[in-house]
Amino acid sequence: MNRYVIALGSNQRHARHGSPQAILRAALAELDAQGVTMHSASPILRSRPLGPSLREYANGAALIETVLEPLQLLDLLQDIETRFGRRRRGQRWRARTLDLDIVLWSGGGWADDRLTVPHPEFRKRAFVLRPAVSVTPGWRDPLTGLTIKHLFARLTRRAAPPR
Ligand code: ATP
Ligand code: MG
Ligand code: MG
Repeated sequence: MNRYVIALGSNQRHARHGSPQAILRAALAELDAQGVTMHSASPILRSRPLGPSLREYANGAALIETVLEPLQLLDLLQDIETRFGRRRRGQRWRARTLDLDIVLWSGGGWADDRLTVPHPEFRKRAFVLRPAVSVTPGWRDPLTGLTIKHLFARLTRRAAPPR
């Protein structure tokens, strides 16, 4: 069996599912329906739009267990993204209905042209680390040797005041 931490995100409403938060709940239900064991799902972090130009978003993390190997899990996650209406036009950082990323894998690291695990950016992203702390604070990043809890504390620690 393989264990993974996955990150979920949405910053666009969906015609049927509604808010980003509802989209993430539906995505978790879909993973469960596909036979993925959900050990723990984080509370969903969300923001409301503060002005006409700002989007609402939702982020979360889940600790899952599955027979799927990393590339098979990536196939499943991309299939679910597509079913939620995500359009793939080769651009990152755009509005999207659903983003499902593999953050950590119990087998350690993976690196090829489709998949890099641990996710190369997760140590810098509070919207990934904060929910990840609530599902598996003690999981150690194989690259730095630090736990998720420690990585989150390191990221959010305030810089020392100037003297
Ligand atoms: P970011 O990876 O910075 O969060 P993104 O999630 O917006 O960006 P996507 O458009 O969802 O990027 O995916 C682009 C490509 O990233 C995918 O086609 C996939 O092959 C690749 N990829 C590499 N590593 C991972 C990973 N750990 N999890 C998910 N996708 C990955
Ligand atoms: Mg992403
Ligand atoms: Mg992605």
